[in-house]
Amino acid sequence: MSPAALAFDLGGTELRGALVEAGGQIAVHRSVQTRAADGPQAVIGQIVEMGAALLAGQPAGSVLGIGIGAPGPLDPQAGMVIAAPMLAGWTDVPLAEILRGSLGLPVRLENDANAAALAEWRFGAGRGVRSMVFATVSTGIGGGVIADGRLLHGRRGLAAEIGHMTITESGERCFCGNVGCFEAVASGTALGRRATTLTGPGDGSLLRRLSGGGDVTARHVFEAARTGDAQALRLVETEAHWLGVGLANLLHLYSPDVIVVGGGLSNGFELLAPGLRSTIGQRAMAAFRDVPVVAAQLGDKAGLIGAASLVFESDQ
Ligand SMILES: [Zn+2]
Repeated sequence: MSPAALAFDLGGTELRGALVEAGGQIAVHRSVQTRAADGPQAVIGQIVEMGAALLAGQPAGSVLGIGIGAPGPLDPQAGMVIAAPMLAGWTDVPLAEILRGSLGLPVRLENDANAAALAEWRFGAGRGVRSMVFATVSTGIGGGVIADGRLLHGRRGLAAEIGHMTITESGERCFCGNVGCFEAVASGTALGRRATTLTGPGDGSLLRRLSGGGDVTARHVFEAARTGDAQALRLVETEAHWLGVGLANLLHLYSPDVIVVGGGLSNGFELLAPGLRSTIGQRAMAAFRDVPVVAAQLGDKAGLIGAASLVFESDQ
């Protein structure tokens, strides 16, 4: 194997680890359920154990370092997780330093959305551009911005928390405490909630038949929309509207060459695309309307590949 990086993608539900080659190929891959409720020590123990297993048998010097993507907010310069909302007790955890001590390799830490943005830029849908906005739309909305050929960090690495820009003054309260955040109205969670509110258990709607009567999710909405179901198509239209409002803001702020949409909702990208285009057409200034909006290409491997690229591209 060519020189590799040991990469981790630490999520609130799953911890993934891999050896990744410099070209972005994943050589060996593992995953476990994150012991998110058990506090930082338990989770760090899982990371170290997985790292040791992945490193076992690798020739000395063949693994150049460790890259890890973790939920923000975090400080990549200090290697510190500041306050991860999905991981109990993670406040000011010096993760990079701890892993360096335990695994004996240099460590680079990055916000998980930034890591995925780097991966899409180097190896996926944003290859070859100078400026790119990556929006990952799933349970929440995260983002990463490549500006003039480098990842934008801002103070303490907190730039591009796009999920918490205010795009309306009404609606559900966001977990951050505000009303009208991009993620509170346009995430997959918001889409599922609208679908659940619109329908009722046992009402005979296709959405509730697909959900088995329980809460409807974004996946059910896309499934129903693909059969032409009118309720689902209206929900998709509303979702595309709110996503488009946020993306139009991002066009004006960052003037990217391309916007890449990842996360669970990119599975329904072809359904959302016409509504996105029409909202951007209405809301973006003319000079921004021709910017392509495309689906991410690396799926749920983007986090690992991006974490590895931190090791290979040390100037990021
Ligand atoms: Zn918020």
